[in-house]
Amino acid sequence: MSNPTGNATDVFADALRRLDTAAEYSSIDPEALARLRVPRAILEVGIPVRMDDGSQQVFTGYRVRYDDTRGPAKGGIRYHPLVSASEVKALAMWMTLKTAVVGVPFGGGKGGVIVDPKSLSRLELERLSRGYMRQIARFVGPNLDVPAPDVYTNAMVMGWMFDEYSRMTGSREPAVITGKPIPLGGSLGREDATGRGAYYVIKEIERQRKWDPSKITVAVQGFGNAGQFVADFLFQDGYKIVAVSDSQGGIYRPQGFDIPSLRQVKNQSRQLEAVYFEGSVREFVDSEHITNEQLLELDVDILIPAALESQITLENAARIKAPILIEVANGPVESAADEVLRQNGILVVPDILANAGGVTVSYFEWVQNRTGDYWTERAVHDRLHEIMSREYQLIHARMEQHDTDMRTAAYGVALDRIGEAIAATGTQRYFNEDDG
Ligand code: GLU
Repeated sequence: MSNPTGNATDVFADALRRLDTAAEYSSIDPEALARLRVPRAILEVGIPVRMDDGSQQVFTGYRVRYDDTRGPAKGGIRYHPLVSASEVKALAMWMTLKTAVVGVPFGGGKGGVIVDPKSLSRLELERLSRGYMRQIARFVGPNLDVPAPDVYTNAMVMGWMFDEYSRMTGSREPAVITGKPIPLGGSLGREDATGRGAYYVIKEIERQRKWDPSKITVAVQGFGNAGQFVADFLFQDGYKIVAVSDSQGGIYRPQGFDIPSLRQVKNQSRQLEAVYFEGSVREFVDSEHITNEQLLELDVDILIPAALESQITLENAARIKAPILIEVANGPVESAADEVLRQNGILVVPDILANAGGVTVSYFEWVQNRTGDYWTERAVHDRLHEIMSREYQLIHARMEQHDTDMRTAAYGVALDRIGEAIAATGTQRYFNEDDG
């Protein structure tokens, strides 16, 4: 993965550094921590795909089962040209911490394929998705490792993979993958769950700080699934979304954008345009073009990186002006930048809490698939709200008690919970104890 300065970053090495620092603030046994420094298993696969012109291309994919002490491994599958083994390992480690933060009975995993999905036709995408599932099928399963969507994958991709897996096993197995289309056993409320979870976290901060949303400005980097939904929920509550961007660059407008209009164009034409829709009439609104780097440095109240990792580094950290940063992407801040942000008094709500809404509703989907009892959308929202608010408050209290930052507090909660599960299987302390 390359960051705005163009330097290649070893994401996994960076993730390990942060794990070690945070572990000092947790009661985790050193043996348990040692286990968390190494993934349980990594699978690398070659996926031959017949292209529309008759030629063959072979893609490389990965699936990492990072830890499954608290339950089956869980985590998305990413399609991106910059996917690497190091990146997938880091993402799988973060999933392990994330499922512990929200207290769902899963471990952590992740998958990825090195591909630019925008360059594939829909049929090629289907063949790639089915081909990837064929290669990882023996490595995943409802009680082993349960994939889901991530960057540039969606419900339809999950549907193809579920179908391929079921054909291979000869039985219908919806709980093998989450984020499926609703008619194939998906859960209501899964599609917007990551954005909604982040929104519930922001509502907690709003309550604590007694904000008037119409006075709060927000910049969102990344206008994919999570970025669009969090922007939309905030917009509906009157927040001013003054800047958004996608991989091509961003737009800035101090008076704020009409988010439903931006979403409509983006989802129809894949373009980010400063527009306002009145019925079917489209008007352009005044705005300024900005780069992704400029967006991060805007003087706004809330900054939401919702794209990729390693966006805020030692190089640009000191120029971040937003007092609140909500990590909707996984790993948008490098470990070296943590201290700078902290010294500047910036409240960073870490990814393993801020974007945990997605995996939480994935858990609901898995439960529904296994029981055959399907929930209403209201039930999904209520349970998600309860979990996000509870864990935010717990982590916030721990941050204040330990006089630390929110990331360290969240890692502390996660490591305590994982540590307890590992200790329940026995550590040196247990085995050396005298039975008396
Ligand atoms: N890809 C999402 C994440 O990073 C969701 C994972 C899941 O639902 O399993 O949290």
